[in-house]
Amino acid sequence: MTFTCRPCSHRSSHRVSKQGYYHGTVLISCPSCKNKHLISDHLQIFSDSRITLDDIMREKGQLVKRGALGGDGDVEFWDDGTTTTTEPTQPTRQIGDS
Ligand SMILES: [Zn+2]
Repeated sequence: MTFTCRPCSHRSSHRVSKQGYYHGTVLISCPSCKNKHLISDHLQIFSDSRITLDDIMREKGQLVKRGALGGDGDVEFWDDGTTTTTEPTQPTRQIGDS
C-alpha cells in the first residue's frame, strides 16, 4: 500500500498483508519522520490504553499469533484463528521474519 504521512506529507510504500490489514493490527513507520501510524487495529491492541510495543510483546504474547517486523519499522500482528500454546517467558520469539 502507499501511505501518505499526515504530519510530514511524506509518501512511502509499505508491504501489508491482507490478513493483517483486514483481520489484524498493522502499524507502519514513516521513513521520513519515524512516526508510527496505526493502519488497522482489529485485535484492539491499541484501543483502550496508551500501550507501547514492548508492552504488547510482553502482555499480549499469547494473543498475538504472528507478528512481522519489517526492515523499515513496520509492524503487523494477526491471529490466524488457531490456538497455540506459547511459552509466556519468551513472547518475543513470535516476532520476526517468517
Ligand atoms: Zn512522516
